[in-house]
Amino acid sequence: MEAVKQIIRDVPDFPKEGIIFKDITPLLADPVAFQKSINTLKDRYTDKRVDVVVGVEARGFIFASALAYALGTGVVMVRKPGKLPYKTFQETYSLEYGTDTAEVHQDAFRSGQNILVIDDVLATGGTLAATLDLIQKNFKDVKVVETAFLIELDFLKGREKLKNTPVYSMIHY
Ligand code: AMP
Repeated sequence: MEAVKQIIRDVPDFPKEGIIFKDITPLLADPVAFQKSINTLKDRYTDKRVDVVVGVEARGFIFASALAYALGTGVVMVRKPGKLPYKTFQETYSLEYGTDTAEVHQDAFRSGQNILVIDDVLATGGTLAATLDLIQKNFKDVKVVETAFLIELDFLKGREKLKNTPVYSMIHY
């Protein structure tokens, strides 16, 4: 995993001053690193009876779809407002400045399904906490098995916002 970590690029002051952006595009473009990332996740979840992998817009979709294919499961998208065409449930959450909303289709899950939620980076945890609220408030009888991230920024303590769900991150900073 150290080789995969090396390939992630730090971009200082993006999208604004003071943020060090973890740019995963070199990893996605590298066939060995990308395959290693997906295979690591596949090995972890093969025996965990996952029915659906949920991807969080937008980079989460890339990992969710590759992993879902590898596990032989379906994939569900949690999207920004106004993108999903059918009836949706919504969850609004606070950002540093203002608010954002996460949406999912009302028929996204079936009763009793085991769900894995995946995104590229766990930073403050706000996005994932809202995603979990969105799922758990509206789909009472599904189980979120775990939330998985390629990268966790430990110093931001995002994990503390996800207390009710196990968290797995492949790479830590
Ligand atoms: P947060 O809600 O703070 O955990 O951040 C959520 C989203 O912002 C994640 O989906 C990440 O894709 C993105 N993000 C936040 N901080 C960074 C960072 N330093 N580098 C790359 N992406 C980030």
